[in-house]
Amino acid sequence: MSETRKLLRGSTGDWEVVIGLEVHAQVTSKSKLFSGASAEYGAGPNENVSLVDAAMPGMLPVINEYCVEQAVRTGLGLNARINLWSRFDRKNYFYPDLPQGYQISQYKDPIVGEGEIEVELDGGETIMVGIERLHLEQDAGKSIHDLAPKESYVDLNRSGVALMEIVSKPDMRSAEEGAAYFTKLRSIVRYLGTCDGNMEEGSMRADVNVSVCRAGNYDKFRETGDFKYLGTRTETKNVNSIRYVRQVIDYEARRQIEVLEAGGEIDQETRLFDVKTGETRTMRSKEDAHDYRYFPDPDLLPLEIDPAWVEEIRASLPELPDAKKHRFMDDYGLSAYDASVLAADKASAAYFEEVVAKCDDGKLASNWVTGDLFGALNKAGKTIEETPVSAAQLGELISLIKDKTISGKIAKDVFALIVEGEESGAPGDIVERRGLKQVTDTGAIEKVVDEIIAANPKQVEQVKEKPKTMGWFVGQVMKASGGKANPQAVNEILKKKLGVE
Ligand code: ADP
Ligand code: MG
Repeated sequence: MSETRKLLRGSTGDWEVVIGLEVHAQVTSKSKLFSGASAEYGAGPNENVSLVDAAMPGMLPVINEYCVEQAVRTGLGLNARINLWSRFDRKNYFYPDLPQGYQISQYKDPIVGEGEIEVELDGGETIMVGIERLHLEQDAGKSIHDLAPKESYVDLNRSGVALMEIVSKPDMRSAEEGAAYFTKLRSIVRYLGTCDGNMEEGSMRADVNVSVCRAGNYDKFRETGDFKYLGTRTETKNVNSIRYVRQVIDYEARRQIEVLEAGGEIDQETRLFDVKTGETRTMRSKEDAHDYRYFPDPDLLPLEIDPAWVEEIRASLPELPDAKKHRFMDDYGLSAYDASVLAADKASAAYFEEVVAKCDDGKLASNWVTGDLFGALNKAGKTIEETPVSAAQLGELISLIKDKTISGKIAKDVFALIVEGEESGAPGDIVERRGLKQVTDTGAIEKVVDEIIAANPKQVEQVKEKPKTMGWFVGQVMKASGGKANPQAVNEILKKKLGVE
């Protein structure tokens, strides 16, 4: 497997980069993990704070069953083991936006154990990335330093909001793989509806762990499971876009190689990413687990869940991106890459299937959706929900190509007219109205061909020597017919008249 990974060349030899991601995904829930306060984003400062979230003395946390259900759903979506017995622990540290003085999290006994997901890379290759665990925890509040010159404010709206922390195995080997994993994870939680994946609002953010080691050592790590073969990692906190994940990995790998080649050592530390410079810098030296004095939260009973409930949740899962991707490949003969692009987003996948239902041609539908449609949406900065061309219209348009009513070229013109808002309604009517029907009447095409041959004796001579130049005639005939001549008929007639084999 390792030969497919890129080695990084240093001045003293080759290096490999190793990446593990801890992704915080905010649970899509109306209320918080241990209180009934609203978890909605965007309220005024401290509007959504219950006595529990403010850590008033004597307040007791009560677990939100809905959040537990979402964690189980997500675990199932990650093909992971669901732990029927789990427990909440206190992770102790002081911070002004953490009024309890500890975060309720899960440490030794998380609700979800090991799993594995498929991740598609741009070139069409697929890698497997292991999931170490998923646990539930509270988010902290926010300290705000830029509202007043000499004061800091604390907003506790986020305090107590439910987070799922999804920890990967150190299975990623390049910036591209790290970014692709994050993308896939986002696609899965959005399908499941357990997290909205909205990165601008901070609903999903990653702590990016990066280390480098000498070429060949990663394989030894895989064989033995011994971390001594890997380099020391740094952890860059709260990276909130896919592009930044990529940048952090590239920057850290290069920086670490430079430090090591200059004879230095990598400190196991927590770093921050500066979006302005694209660089990371030291935030603090890394705490170890024992620094947090973890212990089971005495205010909460262990969490025991019924296997029948897990099965109920499993039965209610939607078809997930991987299953959908494989179905698209099997049913419509799509390539792994096209199938994964279409399956990555629920709305795109539904759109594609509606197109196929109408035109009964998966391949053509896939080409039009991933090519023309996505291209047009990209250009207009629109989402699939805002598409100017409905699935029914595109399906009909493709049917018109298939039954030879119009050529592919004319279909693109009609598509552009709809995108630009110059036409609307059924493509069949547009074609009719604008007189765009394909001419298959060979008599009519022959007439045009004869005229063009008569007017261009030089080119006729040329075709005799170089048959390939017949393409020029095809172009001329198509042009003369306003793109409406059936290209196949044009080719056949030209071949006959010009004596091309
Ligand atoms: P912590 O809370 O101390 O950061 P976790 O176990 O929650 O520890 O997460 C550690 C993350 O770092 C995991 O995603 C793991 O895969 C990754 N990781 C561990 N060792 C390395 C390494 N040498 N290089 C890169 N990533 C690593
Ligand atoms: Mg960590």
